[in-house]
Amino acid sequence: MTELRTLKDFRCEADNCCDRDKCENQSIKVNSLKAEAVKWIKNIDTNLNEEAKTHVRGELNSKISGLCATREWITHFFNITDEELAK
Ligand SMILES: [Zn+2]
Repeated sequence: MTELRTLKDFRCEADNCCDRDKCENQSIKVNSLKAEAVKWIKNIDTNLNEEAKTHVRGELNSKISGLCATREWITHFFNITDEELAK
């Protein structure tokens, strides 16, 4: 299972940072965030596939709805393209 990071798990990535562990500016590169967002989306896709196995066609499933809404938000906010997800 891939470890999914949240903001607190990122270390400062500024080139001239003096102390990455304690830096309060915590400059994070956009590409790092996007890469993490892609991991979150792939994790959601795994969960969706699992959920789909037991899902009764046509039945409303709040877990699937929730996963889809979350996936949509992450994709939109981090500007993730289909090409980035295909990697
Ligand atoms: Zn720093």
